[in-house]
Amino acid sequence: MPSFWTLLHQTLPKAIHSLTALLAPSTRTCLMCGSLSRHAADDGLSALCRDCKHAIPWIRVIHCPVCGRAERCPDCLRREDTAFICNRSAVRYNPLIREWLALYKYRGHEAIAPLLGEMLFTAYQRLVKEMSGRTEAFSIDVVIPVPVSEQRLLERGFNQAERLAAMIAERSGLPLFNLLKRTRHSEKQSFKTRGARLRDSEHLFTVDDTRLAAMLRGLSDLHTKDPAGHSRRRVLIVDDIYTTGSTVNACAQAVEEAFRRNRLAAGPEIYILTLARS
Ligand SMILES: [Zn+2]
Ligand SMILES: [Zn+2]
Repeated sequence: MPSFWTLLHQTLPKAIHSLTALLAPSTRTCLMCGSLSRHAADDGLSALCRDCKHAIPWIRVIHCPVCGRAERCPDCLRREDTAFICNRSAVRYNPLIREWLALYKYRGHEAIAPLLGEMLFTAYQRLVKEMSGRTEAFSIDVVIPVPVSEQRLLERGFNQAERLAAMIAERSGLPLFNLLKRTRHSEKQSFKTRGARLRDSEHLFTVDDTRLAAMLRGLSDLHTKDPAGHSRRRVLIVDDIYTTGSTVNACAQAVEEAFRRNRLAAGPEIYILTLARS
């Protein structure tokens, strides 16, 4: 039986260690609410306190297989020409996420970027896992951001969709390519009726043929074939918010149209990844 001193010798360092861990200034303030948290670190989700982490409205159960919404969805039923296979979003667009995105987009709160990137990367991993269950050897070939207008770029100084797309490209090791161009400036989507949004997003984006050729040249060898034996490129279009899907669908249509125009043997398979589903 170990003596009192042996026991003390064994347990004391441990006790001291946990005591110092408790007292040590390893407490940090939560990135979003500013409360002190002992487990907070610098980056991504770990920069949040427990309460903020628990408050993230992850979309875990999907009701609409097309747009990835957690509720029943009339938009996908009404849309006549869906040019993308599916959209998957990380979270619901609730007041909390609205606030986080506003801090990032309109107030330039750069420190939030890794957190948003990590949330989106979680959705990316789920998308790949879900599609791998359906298709053998599923992988995305290229990540394409939804462009903003020149006017918006001047106001904001950056394109949030491009930043998010760049984070996904970096984490997944995929190439990022700015293939899409916005033809005109559209007014803020949130102030418009559904009909106005749909009309407004028609031909809102274009793809330049030389840009498309450059993108395809830069991609690695094809490894996927469609049932007819054609090889298809898998494209991932990234945006921050999915509302009716009209913006991303207009992007997908422009990409599809460019493939057709250039007589590429098989059209692209287009997937959409968004941070929040409203
Ligand atoms: Zn917090
Ligand atoms: Zn839907």
